[in-house]
Amino acid sequence: MEYLPARQILVRNKSTQWFGTDCTMNLYRGCCHGCIYCDNRSECYHNEDFDTVRAKAGALELLRDELRRKTRPVLVGMGSMSDPYNPFERELELTRRALMLLHAYGCGVAVATKSDLILRDAGLYADLQTQAPVICKVTVTTVEEALAARIEPGAPSPARRLGAVERLSQKGIFSGVLLMPVLPFLEDSEENVLHVVDAAADAGAKFIYPGFGMTLRDRQRGYYYKQLDRLWPGLREKYERRYGARYCCPSPWGKALWETFSGRCRERGLLYEMKHIVSAAKRPYTDSQLTFFDM
Ligand code: SF4
Repeated sequence: MEYLPARQILVRNKSTQWFGTDCTMNLYRGCCHGCIYCDNRSECYHNEDFDTVRAKAGALELLRDELRRKTRPVLVGMGSMSDPYNPFERELELTRRALMLLHAYGCGVAVATKSDLILRDAGLYADLQTQAPVICKVTVTTVEEALAARIEPGAPSPARRLGAVERLSQKGIFSGVLLMPVLPFLEDSEENVLHVVDAAADAGAKFIYPGFGMTLRDRQRGYYYKQLDRLWPGLREKYERRYGARYCCPSPWGKALWETFSGRCRERGLLYEMKHIVSAAKRPYTDSQLTFFDM
């Protein structure tokens, strides 16, 4: 494992819109899950070799110092720029030890992953949840194993990810599914969306949060189109005709999908709007810690 110099671990968020998080933590840089759509390949992140995972040197010491200086506990987001449960985490345990520090400083966490390695830390999430909000988000963009193997070739299978949601939910940890991105012309069928919603509900998820479309820009677009040419010849041209140079690429059927999706979520008792998910996660703590977790 190569280590990169780091000066800061917790980066303050501009708003708490994204799952109520105050700040974001990335202990690793790069990711080997190989999702063909990953936005982190964009030029603005200056990571020329995104598929190689590197760890941040002194990350835990920096994190401890930063937490010590906080005047109140914070809700920390994990999993935005790299998956905190990449295969190297099994040995390195950076994520695991960071969770221990968050627990020691009374903080909450909202983690996103595509790996069932998260189950190793289920006990820690349960401990954290006794004092602060915990939101475990497992990304599932399709339940079709063959399709997932093409678009997320290095990540554990959808069945393993849903198994993780099930085990976390059985342990009483506030868990759900991120249904995003929903790739135009590949995953944006009513059938695919409903299958994921039903699988999330069957696994005992509390919520499912969708994004019917994707983003494309500069070299990330180039990478994605190269993969389309390899895997689905002719599809790239369809994207080019539909989206040109646009960054936001919504599914042409986004509105209808939302209706179908939200209807099925209501039937299955799943939360699906951000404000409801965040308020459900924070509710148990709002009486005792009003200043800590403002609604
Ligand atoms: S798991 Fe997340 S960070 Fe890793 S390649 Fe996939 S989308 Fe990117």
